[in-house]
Amino acid sequence: MPAMFVGHGNPMYAIEDNTYSLTWRALGKHMPRPQAVLCISAHWETRGCFVSGAESPETIHDFHGFPQALFDVQYPAPGSPELAMHIADTLADVPVSIDTTRGIDHGAWSVLMPMYPGADVPIVKLSLDRGKPAAWHYELCQKLAFLRREGVLIVGSGNIVHALGEVVWREGAQHGWALEFDTAIGDLIVSGDHEAIVHYERLGDAARRSVPTSEHFLPLLYILGMQQPGEGLSFFNDAVTMGSLSMRSLLLSGEGA
Ligand code: ZN
Repeated sequence: MPAMFVGHGNPMYAIEDNTYSLTWRALGKHMPRPQAVLCISAHWETRGCFVSGAESPETIHDFHGFPQALFDVQYPAPGSPELAMHIADTLADVPVSIDTTRGIDHGAWSVLMPMYPGADVPIVKLSLDRGKPAAWHYELCQKLAFLRREGVLIVGSGNIVHALGEVVWREGAQHGWALEFDTAIGDLIVSGDHEAIVHYERLGDAARRSVPTSEHFLPLLYILGMQQPGEGLSFFNDAVTMGSLSMRSLLLSGEGA
């Protein structure tokens, strides 16, 4: 299967027709249909590592200050306790616990709902252990790459640049440092220098301002770590908007490996 990192951005994009959501819809239509999705979202941080094991996960509205229409969204995709168990077994040395109550946060549903509007692809979530350094996350995902051969679509959901304190409420606005960091990471992805991306803070002031907290950046590392030797990649939705949000997204082709 392909694998992808998706910049989710403003939660409103999920229910609007815009360049980002139209791309998400097209991807859902044209990619091979997965048996299930394993999603690593910026919006599930925990102490210790968890995988979601609910049969029918609820839709979580983990934001505030948005129109009622966004709170009315329900995305009733099923879970997959079997896949959760499979992951926990595989990562037995980590260890990973199964959370049978966890629902689907907006980092996941805002992009998966446009991709699979029928809510008929099971979704399992893997949490971000906030106690661990970036290199740990990069290594963990490599142990899960085999799931791609079992028909599981792995989706990381976050934003390469995510600095809410410096958001400008205007589409297309771009801070210079946000553009600088987004371009630098894009270039490192193309050159395959994952080591430099894991140590992104060495990119200096632009990195410090673009990644004030790491939770939106870390899901990118999960996808990069799954890239197989020789596997092709492409970007989509690669733009900086609202001053300090990068929508740059990455698709691993699943071919050429
Ligand atoms: Zn977010």
